[in-house]
This record gives sequence, C-alpha cells and structure tokens, in this order.
Amino acid sequence: MTDRNVALFDSARAVIPGGVNSPVRAYGSVGGTPRFLASASGARVTDAAGREYIDLVASWGPALLGHTHPEVVQAVQDAATRGLSFGAPTEGEVELAQMIAERVRHGEARPVERVRLVSTGTEATMTAIRLARGATGRDLLVKFAGHYHGHSDGLLAAAGSGVATLALPGSAGVPAPIAAQTLVIDYNDPDALAAVFAEHGDRIAAVIVEAASANMGVVPPLPGFNRLIAETAHAHGALMILDEVLTGFRVHAAGFWGLQQEAGEQYLPDIITFGKVIGGGMPLAALGGRAEIMDQLAPLGPVYQAGTLSGNPLSVAAGIATLRLATPEVYARVDAAADRLADALDAALTDAGVVHAVPRAGSLFGVVFAPETPRDYAAAQAQESLRYAPFFHAMREQGIALPPSVFEAWFLTAAHGDEELSAIEAALPLAAAAAASA
Ligand code: PMP
Repeated sequence: MTDRNVALFDSARAVIPGGVNSPVRAYGSVGGTPRFLASASGARVTDAAGREYIDLVASWGPALLGHTHPEVVQAVQDAATRGLSFGAPTEGEVELAQMIAERVRHGEARPVERVRLVSTGTEATMTAIRLARGATGRDLLVKFAGHYHGHSDGLLAAAGSGVATLALPGSAGVPAPIAAQTLVIDYNDPDALAAVFAEHGDRIAAVIVEAASANMGVVPPLPGFNRLIAETAHAHGALMILDEVLTGFRVHAAGFWGLQQEAGEQYLPDIITFGKVIGGGMPLAALGGRAEIMDQLAPLGPVYQAGTLSGNPLSVAAGIATLRLATPEVYARVDAAADRLADALDAALTDAGVVHAVPRAGSLFGVVFAPETPRDYAAAQAQESLRYAPFFHAMREQGIALPPSVFEAWFLTAAHGDEELSAIEAALPLAAAAAASA
C-alpha cells in the first residue's frame, strides 16, 4: 500500500509547484517525501499516515509553548465566534502592540514606542526597509550574506534559509536595478562593514541584520558585532534594522535578544522586526521603533504600507495568549532543554567520530559538519553538508522530525519534557553513525 504521504505528495505536485507552499518544506537537500502533517499537540506532530514524531521544527519557530496549547486555541476560537476579520481597528491590536512595546526593553532603553502589525515576517522587513529609506531619503541597503529576511525583491541576494538550501545565488525575477540597491557583505566582518560605509556611507539608508543569524544554520554574532553595526550606521546617518522575526520572544522574555545578548555593550537599533512567536502560530508579524521614525508611516507620514488582514483578530488573539503564557519559566525550560540536547548531540557525534560543531544562540542550536562554529556564510557553506541527509533520515525513522536542511536551526518548545528529550537522546547515536558513514 502506498504511504499516504507519498500519495498526497503526488497529488500536491500536480497542482502546487513542487508540491509545497514554501520551499523550505520540500525535502530538496535531504531527499525523500515531505511528511504531510495532519495534527500536532505539545511537542509532537502526526503525519497523514498516522505516524507520530517528536517535533524539532515547531512550525519554524512560532510554537514556543508547544503545538495547540489549549489556552491559545481557546483564545482563537473565542475570537472566531466574534468575527473573522473586520478591516477596522480592534481592541486586541492595541493590547498586543502594548505588550510588545512594554516587553522590549533593556534597562532604561525602550526602543519600541510604536508598533505596526502586519501578517508575515516578509512584510515586516519589507516595510522596515521602505521606512528606513523614507526616513533617511537614501536608497542603499546593506545586508549580510547568508542572512534571510523574507522574500521581498531587495532581500534575496545571497540569502539564507531555502535560498541557501537550494544553493541559489539569489532569485530570478528580481530586476537588476533593484538588486543593485542591496550591498551584500560578509557577516561578523568589521572590515567589510567599515569598507562598505567608507565607499557608500552617505547613500546607505540602513543595515539589516538578524539579531543572531539562524538561517545559514545558527551563526551567532561575534561579541560586539551588533553594537558595531549600530555605531557605524549611526555615524553615517544610516539606520539599523534588527530582524528579530525568528529570535524575538523565542529566546528571551524581553523579546529583544539582540540587546539582551550584549548586556554591557548596549546599543539601540532603530527599527526592529518581529514575527513567528508573537503570532502564536497564526499569521502575524510586526515592526516597531521610535515614534519619530514609525510615525512616518501612513496615515501620519509619507511612507505607505497597508494590509486587508493586518492585525487580524484571530492572529492577535493567538499572539496575546502566547505572550501572556511566555513567562520567564517558559524560557528557562526551553533553555535547559536546549542545553541538554546540544550536549547530547555533541556527545553522539563525537562518539561516532564525526567532525562537527553545535553552534548556539540562546536556546537556538543546530549542527554543523565542520570543526568549529562558522562565523560567516562561506564557512557555513564549506561544511560537509552531505552528512546531514543520512542523519536527518535516521532521526526521522526513529520518530524524530528535524528541519529538512542543515541550514536551519532546531526549535524546542516548552512542551518538550523529559520523555521527549530522552527519546531524542536515544535516537542520536544511530543518526550520528549514519552521518559518519556518509
Ligand atoms: N526574517 C527572519 C530572520 C526569518 O527567519 C524569516 C522567516 N524564517 C523572515 C524574516 C520571514 O518571515 P516570513 O516567513 O513570515 O515571511
């Protein structure tokens, strides 16, 4: 009998390009058939053939509390009975914006005075860039090779995530004049940063950076690098856009990982983008910043941005419920689980004699088949990535669902308890042996 996943993938490919609605879901680099998921609860997902997996994808980040948290589901159901979408402001949007603005702080610093809600991380970064251009009157954007900020035209150059998995230089369909507005430099490279500003400083509107890069595998910023970006940009009249779509509210209760991470090296980005966790698994993202910048958005200012479903009441309800439940205890639990799994992963690969590193950024971690944590995209790409496919499939056969690419982080949730962590630990030696023989 054909596996139901295989049958569904055949049907999907006949009507959906590549059978998936987002390329990272395809098993492009690991081979095989994607699992069509039918349901999820806590730390587990169930596929269309009824097979259950312990999940380390967490919907690519949003499921901080675990899947289908009863209070989040209840909040969405209650919101649904009141109305699916109004196209008018709602009380919930005010509450969620206040929660984000209040939580994002470090000491006295309050970098988010205003918040605009949108539906996807792509919209958040796209709008942040337009806003930075509008606010500075400049066109050029600096981004880092291997960083992913969504799929808008100017941001696909040397991008991470699915673009890295498919080993693409960028995307077809981006007009050359638009691509030319993005200057791509190496991550964690102070000289490259200095050089790009020395050459183009008075034409650069903004630098966009992931708070810690997690879309070329996990590659944390070198100490002081985020601060250096802020200082360099500000010295030239440019803005710093800190992309916390993935890291925001996932690795710290204060939401604002980039700043927290460098306590004592305080710096202030100008615009911060959020997504994933703040929508609790529903389509929701946001950008925030100081009033003087954010109020340049329409209807107050000349920078236009809009959305029929922006601040959707169901998404907002999921976000409020999630942030209420995302207590410091939740983060402590996820951190402890990450410590435990990262150690187990490291030990299993060491025992199997596989050259590897286990890079960490807060509770984010992953595997790199290279002797040390890469500091930039070139180093991430130079690893022995062919070892990942057998590792991934060996884990999957043992009921553990990892992200289907070595260039993605592993995501834990507060629902990963001792039972799940022990099961993952027990599965690692076989997978490490599979990686060793690749
Ligand atoms: N920025 C970062 C850092 C991301 O990781 C992602 C998605 N993984 C995005 C932006 C884009 O978000 P979305 O997929 O919701 O458009």
